[in-house]
Amino acid sequence: MSLPKGAYEALENVLGKENISDDPAVTTAYSYMWLLYSTHAQSGRYRPAAVVLPESTEEVQAIIRIANKYQFTYIPVGTNLLPPTIPVRPDTIIIDPKRMDKIIELDEKNMYAVVEPYVTYAQLQAESHKVGLSITTPEAGSQVSVMANNLFQGMGGMGHKYGFNRGILACDWVLPNGELLKIGSAGNPNAEWFWGDCAGLNLKGLIRADTGHCGGLGMVTKMAVKLFPYPGPREFPVKGANPDFEVDFPKDRFKINLIKFKTKYKLADAMYDIGHSEIAGAVHEEGANWVLAADSASVEEFWERWPDFQHKWKNILAVTLIGFSSPRQLQYEQKVLDQIVKDHEGEYIEEGSELWNIGHHAIGEAIRCGLSNRLYRPAGDFFVMGGFGFDSIDHTIRTSEFMWPIIEDAYKKGHFVEDLSHSDWVNSYQMCHFSEVEPIIYFEHDLEAGKTFINGYVQTIIEAVKRKMMPTWPLGPMTYITGPAMCNYHEMVKDIKKLLDPRMTSNPGYPVPPEPPPPPAE
Ligand SMILES: Cc1cc2nc3c(=O)[nH]c(=O)nc-3n(C[C@H](O)[C@H](O)[C@H](O)COP(=O)(O)OP(=O)(O)OC[C@H]3O[C@@H](n4cnc5c(N)ncnc54)[C@H](O)[C@@H]3O)c2cc1C
Repeated sequence: MSLPKGAYEALENVLGKENISDDPAVTTAYSYMWLLYSTHAQSGRYRPAAVVLPESTEEVQAIIRIANKYQFTYIPVGTNLLPPTIPVRPDTIIIDPKRMDKIIELDEKNMYAVVEPYVTYAQLQAESHKVGLSITTPEAGSQVSVMANNLFQGMGGMGHKYGFNRGILACDWVLPNGELLKIGSAGNPNAEWFWGDCAGLNLKGLIRADTGHCGGLGMVTKMAVKLFPYPGPREFPVKGANPDFEVDFPKDRFKINLIKFKTKYKLADAMYDIGHSEIAGAVHEEGANWVLAADSASVEEFWERWPDFQHKWKNILAVTLIGFSSPRQLQYEQKVLDQIVKDHEGEYIEEGSELWNIGHHAIGEAIRCGLSNRLYRPAGDFFVMGGFGFDSIDHTIRTSEFMWPIIEDAYKKGHFVEDLSHSDWVNSYQMCHFSEVEPIIYFEHDLEAGKTFINGYVQTIIEAVKRKMMPTWPLGPMTYITGPAMCNYHEMVKDIKKLLDPRMTSNPGYPVPPEPPPPPAE
């Protein structure tokens, strides 16, 4: 855990003693990662050499210039949920933006907000709801950074209506050499923040793409994000307290429908028709295990209910209708939905029934996700199987078909929790124009189960590529699997990395490591 001689003092001179630490009591906390512990045991291996807390873009620039001068590496983080935020070598510092937590501007008329890196969704939503606006929040939880999430995937519960990561407007981006680049309208004098594009070439794709650069191309320090209309109460209508809470939206403007279909393909056809009819705010197939995890107040309760529940919950679509313009919009959309359900032989789950009581929380989750922390509890580890497809609804559902045999194999070995429902989380984005499937799995917090998980994950990416389908999350080294099947894009990304970060100081293994990974050990 070391920095080159003089580097710590140089950082201290810029930030002040109180905003840098190499105390193991502090740095240890940044060395652990929930998922890596059970996969390749990297977690906990390297503490960062220091953690720094900048307060401004200028301080971030100074830190990055010092890293270049002294040649050590840095990782910019948001709230540290993702694996690429832990160091994998001893000379790495973490740039933690906890002091950069302000909403700089909330422009009600032009419907956007300008945020610093540590502003969370809960924070931004609370402010934007006060003026009848909102933003979609990811299942990662509303506690994550708006900026980090938009740089990574930016796909949220309301993506059906509000769109999939269409929200990044202008940004301030500190490049890996410490220079400041303003992109979008902020790049033009006095043009401010309102627009994601600009005159001439726009480099927004370099900070975003499928899963962003994961801190491998410098640090974004300000971002304008699009806000969307919201007809709900000015204060989020939560009733009760954790672990027993729910939302209570005005019934004339918000309604959840839970619909059971005979097959996944019928469910998919209904989704297409919902998209063609341009109705609904949120549309998701809900996975059985997380629906139950969300409804269980304790781990014990989950395990008591799971053996029976997994037989009951299958092919269930949650459709949240919202009267954005008036209650009549909701009434109209309900009529259209009734017809679609009839056409595809769906069956509404009756309000107040056992399944409805368990699944209706999805309405609040679509708008402000608050239950995702419960996903981790039942088994110690949780994740999504594999390079889940991002494509048309039809394609994503077909990717789930080759994922389930891999999952089944793992639970037969006792490595994953059995899930006979084979139910996925299938999302609609942009009015069902495209979609994503996530088979949610639970597994033990041990190395054997972790190995099965990571091997299965890689296998699903290989299977998708074989079938010319689009897998997502080929993070870092996995890009060497997807790249050759897609015009060798990984070679181009490697060239961009070399060009922008020739000293390899910015999270060096991302977006693509310079060399392919060694073959996995047996
Ligand atoms: C249970 C679970 C559910 C998830 N569900 C969703 C989902 O529904 N939708 C979705 O979009 N994502 C989802 N994710 C993925 C991911 O965790 C999120 O995108 C999340 O936003 C990460 O936020 P964070 O603040 O913790 O970012 P971090 O984990 O801190 O950072 C994410 C990445 O971005 C880089 N980074 C962070 N800030 C900056 C910056 N200012 N400049 C440059 N690089 C930066 C980091 O180095 C890191 O590589 C999920 C993850 C988990 C674990």
